[in-house]
Amino acid sequence: MTVINSDIKEWKGYTGRPFLISGPCSAESEEQVMETARQLAALNRISIFRAGMWKPRTRPDSFEGVGAEGLKWLRSVKQETGLLTGIEVANERHVYEALKYGIDLLWIGARTSVNPFAVQDIANALQGVDVMVLVKNPINPDIDLWIGALERIARAGITRLGAIHRGFSTFEKTTYRNQPNWQLPIEMRRRIPDLPIICDPSHIGGARMYLHEISQKALDLNFDGLMIESHIDPANALSDSQQQVTPNDLNELLSRLILRNPSPADQKLLDMLGELRQQIDVYDEHLLDLMEKRMKVVEKIGRYKKENNITILQSLRWDEIIKRAINKGAAKGLGAETIEGIFKAIHQESINRQMQVMNDE
Ligand code: PEP
Ligand code: MN
Repeated sequence: MTVINSDIKEWKGYTGRPFLISGPCSAESEEQVMETARQLAALNRISIFRAGMWKPRTRPDSFEGVGAEGLKWLRSVKQETGLLTGIEVANERHVYEALKYGIDLLWIGARTSVNPFAVQDIANALQGVDVMVLVKNPINPDIDLWIGALERIARAGITRLGAIHRGFSTFEKTTYRNQPNWQLPIEMRRRIPDLPIICDPSHIGGARMYLHEISQKALDLNFDGLMIESHIDPANALSDSQQQVTPNDLNELLSRLILRNPSPADQKLLDMLGELRQQIDVYDEHLLDLMEKRMKVVEKIGRYKKENNITILQSLRWDEIIKRAINKGAAKGLGAETIEGIFKAIHQESINRQMQVMNDE
């Protein structure tokens, strides 16, 4: 296991929590890049100006970026505004081009971090280079794959290394463009406590209206920074037009965020939190006891089904259970999606138990 230990406070451009990265989804023209950068620099709170040069688009015939041409514009951004610059790299060539133009931060996109061959090629190109690198979560919720990509970059000698949480793809259309699955970045924090984590609410939400709530949630979970797409004319952006905001709107959004303290300074508050946490632990124990009891009954049913040659999965019965749980949950103020998720997991565990019973002699 490679040790990853990066203190964001020592990163170039860091001025305090949250570390802010902003700029257009794609660099489109010199004018668009320069004007967005000027307006963002004027906010005096952005550390890194981002812009995509090579765009990984889901379908062909979409705008695929201006390519290396745009790197010159980023060099001008740095010279004129003093903002540090960042781009997405998806292969070795991108890394070499970026370094040639003095780009300060590189990130590996969600469609690249899924592929260990591609990540290793990028890591090889980064060997011995002093640059900040962020690894976006792979599009599928696989924490080991995400950690593996970070380890490959760490082994290349990159010390200013961080993760970007940008959500996960699903087949079903959901409210957000990508499911946040907050448990993954939380687990990342548990597994690698000294790894900076940046949230990308733009790609999670996929629409301007969700940016604030997602950003606030990330700050409440003690994320280190935010990457938010900003464009001088979002409605006419060549990519991700629904989710980009003008620098002014970004400023307004940032001003509405509440920055809470990671740990309460005051002893009384700590004691109170401690007590409440004990209560939570007790309820969690109850939940586990109840699960154990439920599974014992499930096993009994399994034995009955086996003796009478009945299939394990009874869809109608299952449908009934879920509907009832969602209705009862709603009356208790519990979200339908949460209840459905919990009950699906319980159902899966029940099926596993019954399969075991079926296979037992
Ligand atoms: C981007 O940041 O513009 C981008 C393409 O993001 P992702 O890799 O998260 O889709
Ligand atoms: Mn984008």
